[in-house]
Amino acid sequence: NEFEYIELKELLLEVVNFMAPQALLKNIEVSTSLQTECTCKVLGDRNLIKQVFMNSIKNAIEAMPKGGNIYITVSCTEKKDVCIEIRDQGQGIEAAQLDKIFDPFFTTKSGGTGLGLSHSSQVIKSHGGTIEVESKVEVGTSFKFILPLQK
Ligand code: ADP
Ligand code: MG
Repeated sequence: NEFEYIELKELLLEVVNFMAPQALLKNIEVSTSLQTECTCKVLGDRNLIKQVFMNSIKNAIEAMPKGGNIYITVSCTEKKDVCIEIRDQGQGIEAAQLDKIFDPFFTTKSGGTGLGLSHSSQVIKSHGGTIEVESKVEVGTSFKFILPLQK
């Protein structure tokens, strides 16, 4: 578990290149919008951060059985933080469940482990960051991962 400097846009492209082909098989297109003005460097555990984004894209894919789009945006407008948004057009999350999705073993999937988001929230917390979720049933879900930028 060694911390190193991570160029987030590079990491995201790596994750997307890995996930996009399997998404496409399910009629899901993954597109990225990576702000170019800044290099979004964070200090962290590369493998753990990578898992967070892979889990989130996997959840997005699983939320769109009929296909759709996943939009990934990286922006560092806040200057001290970088925000990675992963947005889908999936089934959404009911309001009553929104505060449970980070609980270990909470799942709405048959055969789900319910461990992805609880692990992700631990990883993001241990990197000094936060996660924000917005969701509308039958419209889609947006996860924002906010991490402190390294100068
Ligand atoms: P699992 O994927 O094994 O169910 P997670 O911890 O990854 O466990 O997610 C917990 C729950 O949060 C899911 O079962 C699902 O109900 C909800 N969820 C997570 N991401 C999304 C998403 N993008 N769209 C809709 N629901 C989601
Ligand atoms: Mg999951």
